[in-house]
Amino acid sequence: MDKITYKLSPSSCVEQYFSHLCERFLLYQGIKSGSAKALGFENPQGTGSEIAALAGEAWEEKLARKLIKDDSLIYTLDKKTGGFAKFNTEETISKLVEMVESVKGDKKTRYLYQASLKVTDNFIKDYFRFDKSLYDGTFEGLQVVFSRTHPDLIRASVDEEKNQVVLSIVDMKLAKKMKVEHKVQVTLYVKLLGYLVKEYNDEASNNKLQAVVDTSYGYLWNYGQEQETGFSLQETEPLLEDFFQDVFPRVINKLKVAIEADDKEQLQQVIDTQIMGNCEWCENYGQCTKRLKTEGNVALLPYLSSYAQEYAKRLNMPKGISEFVEEIERPEISEALSANRSWSRILKDKSLLEIHQDAVPYTYDDMKNAGYKWKGMRSFVMPNWQNIAIIITA
Ligand code: SF4
Repeated sequence: MDKITYKLSPSSCVEQYFSHLCERFLLYQGIKSGSAKALGFENPQGTGSEIAALAGEAWEEKLARKLIKDDSLIYTLDKKTGGFAKFNTEETISKLVEMVESVKGDKKTRYLYQASLKVTDNFIKDYFRFDKSLYDGTFEGLQVVFSRTHPDLIRASVDEEKNQVVLSIVDMKLAKKMKVEHKVQVTLYVKLLGYLVKEYNDEASNNKLQAVVDTSYGYLWNYGQEQETGFSLQETEPLLEDFFQDVFPRVINKLKVAIEADDKEQLQQVIDTQIMGNCEWCENYGQCTKRLKTEGNVALLPYLSSYAQEYAKRLNMPKGISEFVEEIERPEISEALSANRSWSRILKDKSLLEIHQDAVPYTYDDMKNAGYKWKGMRSFVMPNWQNIAIIITA
């Protein structure tokens, strides 16, 4: 197998992980298409809707034009296309130095659009918490790299009380409300900016950045809002910490072990699949449900949250539905599982488990060819503890 590269991107890997909370998704998102084939992944692995991306770009452009009108946006244009372009890291630093000087002078808040944040060696040392050989290039089969990073806006404003310029991260989002995954993404940008500013100021003999990075608040500029809204980074720092401390090393280590064993099937077996509502927005839904159906996996139970799946995993519950049903016959197991809200509801009314067990003998192809054949004449009830949205499309 050729060397596999895993590329960690704050948007497509970290942000999207918090939208899906799925190990398998995180694995798929960081593997380049050539490597994906070598690992035996089916297409497609990448997610995303082109229409949503275009709508996001339109919202971003609208905001950028508004800030240009207010004379508060620092930006650059692509010479060929005339559209907005990205600053590279060196340009980002020099624009930040200029912007901070201007803000200090006239106290007017300014925004740097489409900056690039280089990931510093110290950040990698502090946050890549797995074997160094996996990211310094010395491990033969795998290298983990960090992708280039582009927060939408870096804002410079004056803190009157402390009489200093503060740099904050502002990300523009098409979503109308703040979402946890967007907050985590901003939290990561804040960390990256902090490391970059420190490295620059430690090395620069003059033209230092006379500003502090705001490590208390991050900002999102959601669709239709007149201005950005702040949120406390205290809310999301533990999530980001958990991601780098636990989730990401776990996935990378599973990948490493499978590469060492040169065993693609082993990787499929050990990597977790968290089926839940959000899977319907994931392009891997077909290949994931196909595999789980063949295994008769409990994760296919309707209305089972990812947290409930995680909880069962922590209790070492079997993945196969028949073994699972046998196990909950033991009162102590049933009681331990019921401590979780989702499981408690399912165990109280066992019909979901029974329906699932009845359906297991049918393969995915049976269902595709002949429709879902229930052994008993049951149907799903509408869940009474969830909000339901029905979207009718043309
Ligand atoms: S469909 Fe669901 S389980 Fe499969 S990769 Fe996507 S989020 Fe994970």
